[in-house]
Amino acid sequence: MALPAEVSRADSGRAEVALTFHGQGEPAQVERLLGVLEKAGVRVTVLAVGTWLGEYPSMARRVLSGGHELGNHTENHLDMSGMDAAAAYGEIAACADRLRALTGSQGRWFRPSQTQYATDVVKEQAVRAGYPTCLSFSLDSRDHTEPGPPVVVRNVLGKVRAGDVVSLHFGHDGTTVAMPRILAGLQDKGLRPVTAGELFGPAGG
Ligand SMILES: [Zn+2]
Repeated sequence: MALPAEVSRADSGRAEVALTFHGQGEPAQVERLLGVLEKAGVRVTVLAVGTWLGEYPSMARRVLSGGHELGNHTENHLDMSGMDAAAAYGEIAACADRLRALTGSQGRWFRPSQTQYATDVVKEQAVRAGYPTCLSFSLDSRDHTEPGPPVVVRNVLGKVRAGDVVSLHFGHDGTTVAMPRILAGLQDKGLRPVTAGELFGPAGG
């Protein structure tokens, strides 16, 4: 059965959570975070901002080479909540073009920028651009507000349940500091961190 036009959590019943990242940040900083994840054997989903890929094109293949999933988080990370169809399509398609040029695939997932949920206009334009399912999230780590690593850890571990899609961000050192504690806490709860693709199962499946 196909997924709906937007997903924010899974009801597979499996003890899994998807760690999903806003993909934009200074490469050395991103590398440190990926290093923490990869040392722990964890694969995540990265939603790349198109202008970030323009600035650091090697990051696209770097993410994939770590076994992670790479998707689309618009070209310019504008507020999509009031965006008309033409503007929304442009934002989605421009990032998709970059992903295809850099990796040969535009990725399975699209996540709108600056809004947790896609509007109907955005969902329609995502479908038009080849993304049948928008990837929202059910648990916000608030890491981009830089509240300090202990708060980021508490925001995730305090509420996390099987099936959650956790929103996290590249580009903030606090996220990297928090990550080993988040991973240990998930393990204590018997929750396995996976990619969104693993959490929701094969496309069209
Ligand atoms: Zn974002």
